[in-house]
Amino acid sequence: MPRPPEPTRRAALAALGSTGALAACDRRFLFNAHARELPSRPREVVQVIDAQPTIEGAGVHLRRSLGSRALPLLDPFLMLDEFHSDRPEDYAPGFPSHPHRGFETVTYMLEGAVEHRDSLGNHGHLGPGWTQWMTAGHGIIHSEMPVHEPSSTRMWGFQLWINLPAAKKLVRPRYQDVAPERIPEVAVDDAAVRVVAGEVGGRTGPVDGIVTAPQVMDVRLGARGSVRHAVPATHNAFVYVYDGAAELGAGRAKVGAGQLAVLGPGELFTARTTAGARLLSFAGRPIGEPVARYGPFVMNTDDELRQAVDDYRTGKLIELPGG
Ligand code: MN
Repeated sequence: MPRPPEPTRRAALAALGSTGALAACDRRFLFNAHARELPSRPREVVQVIDAQPTIEGAGVHLRRSLGSRALPLLDPFLMLDEFHSDRPEDYAPGFPSHPHRGFETVTYMLEGAVEHRDSLGNHGHLGPGWTQWMTAGHGIIHSEMPVHEPSSTRMWGFQLWINLPAAKKLVRPRYQDVAPERIPEVAVDDAAVRVVAGEVGGRTGPVDGIVTAPQVMDVRLGARGSVRHAVPATHNAFVYVYDGAAELGAGRAKVGAGQLAVLGPGELFTARTTAGARLLSFAGRPIGEPVARYGPFVMNTDDELRQAVDDYRTGKLIELPGG
């Protein structure tokens, strides 16, 4: 049979494409016993900021988006850093022994690993796909030292800081170290979504008991993919694109790698991409209290900050309430 002329072949491919799309819809419908009921109000991008090169710890080169001058705070979120380098000199100095009080730190690893030790005697190795959710509460002293695998010097991960309300700032510290296999990966529309915390596509992430009820997910979209999922209307939300580029909201605001997008009110997250995108999506219930920060301490007042510094100097930071 002779090869059809070009326009016909194109039409045939187009028809195949739409058939494929229909098949994907059918499969999704069958896969979810109930059709997904989604809220209607998409969250639109209200601000886009570029992550800024920053040096932290003992000399770690990273990129800070949230917590930078352009966006000091997005209640309850305090900071988001991305560390991504093939050069050990960029990350090897690490974060030797340092304290925290009054908030939570979340480490999420894509490549390489972080070795952590703390004043409670915890010791762990966070490799690719691991999450560590640390509620510092009353106080902890720990070290976080990057270690690369023998096969690759690549280090790629994130640290997020989330605030605690006054009533929880001095709680007993708590660690949740989460192995990759405990983080469900769920298909939502065209996306593969790793659900770290909160509920997405009928699956709930393994991190629980967090006072700000966060929704944290790692979203991977292939070329020409799109995704929609519900985000609690009560929450503040933002997105950090770490690979490729995505268009967010009904306004299809373009957000590229290394950019953070603050989302406005609504209850629906929507993203689409032309060439593919990987992004982290965060939502959390705002606390609505005054924030006083000094380095690794986040309290409500300057007096409480002074107390934290004093307690660190005198060893009381890691004395747990009630002995
Ligand atoms: Mn730390």
